[in-house]
Amino acid sequence: MFGGDFFGGGFPGMGSQRPRGNNTRYYEILGVDRNASDGEIRKAHRKLALKYHPDKAGANADPEKIKEINEAYEVLKDQEKRRLYDEYGEDAVKENGGRPGGGGMADIFDLFGGGGGARRRSEPKGDDIVHRLQVKLEDLYKGTTRKLALNRMVKCDQCNGVGTKSGKTFKCMVCNGSGLEVKIKQLGPGMIQQIQSRCSNCGGQGYSAPYEDRCPTCSGKGLSKERKVFDVTIEQGMRDGQKITFHGEAGYSDPNIPPGNVVFVVEAKEHALFKRVGIDLVMEKKINLVEALCGGTFYINHLDGRVLKFSPPAGAVLKPDSWHRMDEEGMPIHGRPMVHGNLYVHFDVEFPDSLSEGQRKAVSKALGGPGTSSADHMVDDEVEVEMSPVPDIQDELKSRARFGKEHGAAYNSDDSDEEGFPRGQRVRCAQS
Ligand SMILES: [Zn+2]
Ligand SMILES: [Zn+2]
Repeated sequence: MFGGDFFGGGFPGMGSQRPRGNNTRYYEILGVDRNASDGEIRKAHRKLALKYHPDKAGANADPEKIKEINEAYEVLKDQEKRRLYDEYGEDAVKENGGRPGGGGMADIFDLFGGGGGARRRSEPKGDDIVHRLQVKLEDLYKGTTRKLALNRMVKCDQCNGVGTKSGKTFKCMVCNGSGLEVKIKQLGPGMIQQIQSRCSNCGGQGYSAPYEDRCPTCSGKGLSKERKVFDVTIEQGMRDGQKITFHGEAGYSDPNIPPGNVVFVVEAKEHALFKRVGIDLVMEKKINLVEALCGGTFYINHLDGRVLKFSPPAGAVLKPDSWHRMDEEGMPIHGRPMVHGNLYVHFDVEFPDSLSEGQRKAVSKALGGPGTSSADHMVDDEVEVEMSPVPDIQDELKSRARFGKEHGAAYNSDDSDEEGFPRGQRVRCAQS
């Protein structure tokens, strides 16, 4: 049961995908469109900065607003950060720069406001670990349980996460407990940039025990490695993209920050025979011309191992490109697994490539002689022409487009290979 299903390796958060957080707020703050160009973003920032700047705005001055504007601008002006933000939201960008609310933000306004980095986020929480779970359609039909193992960090048993023998905590001398190192850079007259980064001494935790008092089990880190196996229940009728969440199970990256969630995202694998459309199933059934005309018994191997058997009523003809329904043979509905959708069968009739003289006569006799199409013309217009088979109409149309271009014929669009021909309809030519 364990084979192939393991993930993890290393520390929580590594190699995991971040969930999508809020990724529109920064655009709203600057009042620009999501597709705004760099120039537009720069202009919007400049305008707003002047509007609220303490030196220019007088009574309108609003330090908090300026902070917000700068924060948004710092991210959106940087291509890499903007990409990250668009994809994963605010938290991803902040964490990328160090600690939440901290790192990497150039905060010009600190010069005027004198304020430290006020943390916007009320409850810090560790990263979620998101794992995509490929699930076969059979398993979504029947339901199943998967075992998945994760290597995560938990609080050290020995010291209960404190990291010291004595149980005391020691503030980091370098960052004075803030977990951040701050560097100040002079940009020009009256302008300084303040760069914050994770404290190199304590790794951002804000405390660091003297060597003699460090817990020997975790060497002062407060965390130890653990392998955790999750029983993931995939319920009947679950869909692609559906999430299965284990709250607070992602493990610690810092003993003082509650761990994030482990989230499994169902990723439905494609099935060779069935296609899922909502609660229904759709399938293609190939039959030959004799079966189409004379009927027969057909079998379908269903997702739960049953074999569905059916025979069209005597005398019924199964036409090419026709649809048939089998009630309640579709997917179970999630949460109400006794209720099923339908199964829709699309018939594709394979015609013979050619008929022998004997077959031709027999079919013609059995079906009542030649059709009317061969007599449907005016005798005066009669011209003898030749007809040859086209094995692949798409190839043919492409080659016609090339031919047309080479000979200067105007085609309306690049997509000329679909002009005039209904999609999905195969053109078959009988061979004589
Ligand atoms: Zn420190
Ligand atoms: Zn310990």
